[in-house]
Amino acid sequence: MPHLAEGIDRFQREIFPAKAGLFARLATVHRPRTLFIGCSDARVVPELITQTDPGELFVIRTAGNLVPAHTPGADAVSAGVEYAVAVLGVRDVVVCGHSACGAMTALAEGHDLASAPAVAAWLRHADASLARTAAAGRQGDVAALVRENVDAQLANLATHPSVARALAAGDVRLHGWVFDIAAGSVEELDTTARPAVAA
Ligand SMILES: [Zn+2]
Repeated sequence: MPHLAEGIDRFQREIFPAKAGLFARLATVHRPRTLFIGCSDARVVPELITQTDPGELFVIRTAGNLVPAHTPGADAVSAGVEYAVAVLGVRDVVVCGHSACGAMTALAEGHDLASAPAVAAWLRHADASLARTAAAGRQGDVAALVRENVDAQLANLATHPSVARALAAGDVRLHGWVFDIAAGSVEELDTTARPAVAA
């Protein structure tokens, strides 16, 4: 991984000194305002898209930007959501889908995932997204599934007690975005019409 070592070297020589004051503050303070939940896809880089500095975004990235609905058991995603909302007190939560999403493409086009059983099982958290897309007569439409999936994951998010509490108190707002890789654009979806996620 020589290019990674070169990157670290360049960071230490050029980037870190230029932001020395910021990193000095961040050494003892972790107070992000936003929880950003995006896809693990290497092309969707939250800090690049939003031009944010270290310390600004608390980031959770999962395949298909999926947020499993709350269950009594703990998992990495629910722990991250709870920590960001209940402990760090983020004021905004973004679920960001994106164009050409491999996870959404596999689901929309019914790819055979027999060789990737963990992926297949994980993607079941998009069952409601698939159902919504089919109900809208858009079965097989990847772009439609990407959008429905953002909405469905926002609804899942609202089932987490920390989020439900913050929503009820008006302490947090939920946002649905779709990033277009080819255009570099971000569309904010209208989530206000959906009572389950409205602040
Ligand atoms: Zn993706």
